[in-house]
This record gives sequence, C-alpha cells and structure tokens, in this order.
Amino acid sequence: MQKVLLKLSLICIAYSLVIGITGCSTRQIPADLIIRNATVYTVDAANPEAQAIVVRADTIVYVGTNEAADAYKGTLTKTIDAGGSFVMPGFIEGHGHIHNLGDFLRDINLMNVSGFDEIVAKVKAAADKAQPGEWIIGRGWHQEKWTNKPQENFLGYPYHDALSAVSPNNPVLLTHASGHSLYINKKAMDMAGITPATPNPTGGDIVKDKNGRLVGVLEETAMGLVRQYYGAYIMQQTEAQRRDKWLSGLQLAEEDCLRKGITSFVDAGSSFTQIKWMKGLADSGKLKLRHWMMIRDGNAALRAGASTFPIIDAGNGHLTMNAIKVSLDGALGSYGAWLLEPYADRAGFIGQNTFDMDTLRAIAAFAWDKNIQLCVHAIGDKANRETVNIFAEQIAKDKSKDHRWRVEHAQHVHPAEIPRFKEWNIIASMQGIHCTSDAPFVIKRLGEQRAETGAYMWRAFMDAGVLVNNGTDVPVEDADPMPNFFASVTRQLKDGSTFYPKQKMTRQEAIYSYTMANAMAQFEENKKGSLTPGKYADIVILSNNLLSCSDADILNTKVQYTIVGGKLAYEGK
Ligand SMILES: [Zn+2]
Repeated sequence: MQKVLLKLSLICIAYSLVIGITGCSTRQIPADLIIRNATVYTVDAANPEAQAIVVRADTIVYVGTNEAADAYKGTLTKTIDAGGSFVMPGFIEGHGHIHNLGDFLRDINLMNVSGFDEIVAKVKAAADKAQPGEWIIGRGWHQEKWTNKPQENFLGYPYHDALSAVSPNNPVLLTHASGHSLYINKKAMDMAGITPATPNPTGGDIVKDKNGRLVGVLEETAMGLVRQYYGAYIMQQTEAQRRDKWLSGLQLAEEDCLRKGITSFVDAGSSFTQIKWMKGLADSGKLKLRHWMMIRDGNAALRAGASTFPIIDAGNGHLTMNAIKVSLDGALGSYGAWLLEPYADRAGFIGQNTFDMDTLRAIAAFAWDKNIQLCVHAIGDKANRETVNIFAEQIAKDKSKDHRWRVEHAQHVHPAEIPRFKEWNIIASMQGIHCTSDAPFVIKRLGEQRAETGAYMWRAFMDAGVLVNNGTDVPVEDADPMPNFFASVTRQLKDGSTFYPKQKMTRQEAIYSYTMANAMAQFEENKKGSLTPGKYADIVILSNNLLSCSDADILNTKVQYTIVGGKLAYEGK
C-alpha cells in the first residue's frame, strides 16, 4: 500500500510540474464505490452532514464533499448519483426473529386477515391440498385487530369449531402475531390428548370458557402441549430436509429485509442447530445480511454447548453470536405479560411467569462468568422488576464491567424501575411499533394510570440516561422500518389519535435508536451504526429526508438502494 502511495504522489508531483497547477495532491487511490450528490446524515456527531461517501472494498474511506469524493474516481469505480436523496446508515433491526420471519413468509400469512372467517377460509384451502396427517401451519392472527368481530367468542377468541370442521384430518397450528398463543383444531387437540380436564401447565393457559368448554387457544407455555407433537413430526425428516426447508425461509427473510433497507439483523432466540446452519452459510460467504444472534436454550444445554460461544464476525462480519435469550413472561395481547397488579380486564389474573426464576439465576451466573450478553424478554412490570433484580445480583460483582445486558421489550415498567436500569447500566431494547400497535388494547388491559406512567416509556428511559435501541420484533410486526420510525416519533395510531405523546422520540433520536444504539447494544459501534471512515459500508438511500419530511411522508418513504459492505444488495424500482 505504501509503495502505491509513493508512486501516486511522484506521478502527482511530476504532473503538477508539467501543467503548472496545484491541488493534484488530493488525488486518491481509486475507490470501488462513490455515492455523491446526496443528503447524507451520518449519525456521527463529529461529522454529521455530508454530500458524498467513498467506499473501498467493504469499508467507508471518506465522508464529505462531492469534490473531494471525486478525487477517488478511477476507471473501475462505480458511482451512484443520489440526486439529492437522503442517505443514512443501513437500518439495524434491533430485535427480530429471522427464522420465524422465514417460516412466516413461507407458510400461511394471517397478518392482515379481517377476522376468523378469513382464517378458516385460508386453512380450508390448505387442508384441501394437504396430505392426510400433514400439519397446516400459519402465523400472524391478532383477535384485537380484526375488523370483522366474531359473534360467539370468549375473551375475543371465537371457538375452534369452524377451524376443526374444515380440517378434520390435518392438525392445524396457527401462531398469534405476538408468538405467545396458538389456535389449534380438534385434530391437534386429540393428538396432544387435550380435553377439558387437562390441567394448565405452569406459566400457561388452555383457554376454556366459563362452562369449561375448550376454545382452541393455548397461551404461553401451554403452546408446548401441541408444539411437541409438531416438533416430533418435523424430526421425522432428515436433517438435510429440515435444513433445506429452513434455508428456503431464511432466503425469503433476508430478501425481505434488504428490500426494506435493513443491513443488520438481531435475532432474539436461535437454537444451537440454527446457529450451526448459520455458521455454515457464513463460512461459505452466503449470508446477505449481517446477523447478530442470541441463543435460546435451557441451563444444562447452554453449559453443554459452552464451546459454541463466542462466534465473532464469522464470514467477514456476517455472523456474531455471544448472547443468550430467556423469556421471563409473555405478551400483553395474550394476557401473558407478568404484572405486579391484576389485569384490568381479566379479574384476579396477573399474567404468566414463563421461565423458572432459579434457572434464570443460574443462566445469569453462567453468562456473567463467560462474558456472554444476557438478553431477557420482560414485558410486564413484574417481569421487568424480577429481571432487573437478577441482573443486579450479577452486575454487583463488578459494576465497572462493560456487560451490556439487555431487557428485551421493557414494555411496561413500574416508574421505580427506570432509574434502576440506569443504576445497573441495563439496555432497554424496545420496539416503537409495539406501542401504537398495542395501544388499542393497552388501556383495556392496564387501565389509564398504569398505561400513562408505565407503558412504552422510551422518552423517560432516554431522559434517565438509559440506552434505548429499536426494532420491530418481526414477524410480530412487519420488519419495515418506516412504520416503526413513524410510531417512534409520533405515537400516532391508525385512527389519528396519539398514545401519550409526551414519550415521543425526536427524529434524530429515532434514527440513532435504529442505528448507533443498536450497534452499541451488540458491542459493534466501532464497525457500524454510523457513516464513518473505517466502518462497514452499510448504507441505505431513501426517497424522503427522514429528518425533515412531514410525518405522513415518513410512511411514503421508498428504499432506493440498500448497500451491505459496499455491495449493492437491493435497488428499488
Ligand atoms: Zn421477540
């Protein structure tokens, strides 16, 4: 490299002498990519705005003016004239489920159905084509979001009978959008031996009406009663068959993210087998996104698999895994959030503690000793309190350690918890879109007072000095950053009302939460999260300026280019 520089400067001096001009000393080694004529927002406080970005191989080498960037132009340099478009660091999905997204894109999509009738119709179409005994799988329904409300229901859930009638020979398993409950049909109940007399497992509910009639819904840990049979059905296949099916979903998931301007993805809970498959893809250079993964397994399995930790930057920065995921409670929509006081709309019910506390304590000790990040899903205020307590027991051993332990969601907290996040340096890994998506039922579940002082408190967290990162929990919500960004800065619902707008983020804060804060929450702020020389050239070019466009135009913003490691990974039409 030094020889080349010397040669270039000698040519430069000679050239200057011949034609008698100065300024040639700015001539640079040619780059692979120049993006110019852009409105660049770098998320780098030292150099916040620019016109151009220069990339060599997978790294940013210069951020500044068009003129200076042009000095890097060689015969092989690709140039993108952004025509004034808005350029920022690629979005980092701060908490999603890449494998579930893949399944969701491959299986029956129930995300936007109008009601139960449409679900039944979709299942009927699948059952008519299925082999006897084949499982029918779908995801994304949410009873609170149906416009066509069911006539006969319990807690908003219609009874399973219509579902059972259209699929008498095929077990049906339909996961709630949140991932915290299931609809099943009679065939699946029979396989799992579920009757009105079956007791609820700890941390779960087989939903029955007041007369003891089975509704067909399993909440939280009760999902395991049927999932184990689906798991056994899948395990009849060879590993190669399972991997092929998984890979077909993963590829759909990566493409979906790239189309939406996402360059890095945090997966909140993979198995050891999925990690092994991901590592194989990373090592052969086949991953298109950068993946940062948490492993989810029991205490004994984590210890037995300890040698898997850590995977850092496999496949040239495409796969890192040095984190553990535990879910301590469920979700608010499915009455699974573990609360200090009962639900306002389910008398005497405080939700579900879905993970044994002593086991979590043991996992926390293991993670602390091995320098592994611990990421605990906590939605209800009780779950958040218990998580902070367990984190604090370990962190107290050495408060100076840069642990970056995370509470996933931190969705509903008692106001007393917010300073405790700061005290123990805990990250609040939040999802802006959950606020506006859940808002229609939050007050119903929690009542006004708890909703106002405890729900989706990202402004209060940030004001207290807590790092708040952002994501969508895809496929719970769509991975599209625009509705999530819109929710973070407006807290505006579809009907135009706003949910406690005092907790809004500014535009700058929301971009930061989606870029640098996510990079920090994964120990990768030196590699990504801002457009800074020396970092990966992970860049998105957008049709609207997210700092200055109208609120409504945020939702009309199109992704023009997604660039991962200097390579064009998606080009919009
Ligand atoms: Zn999640």
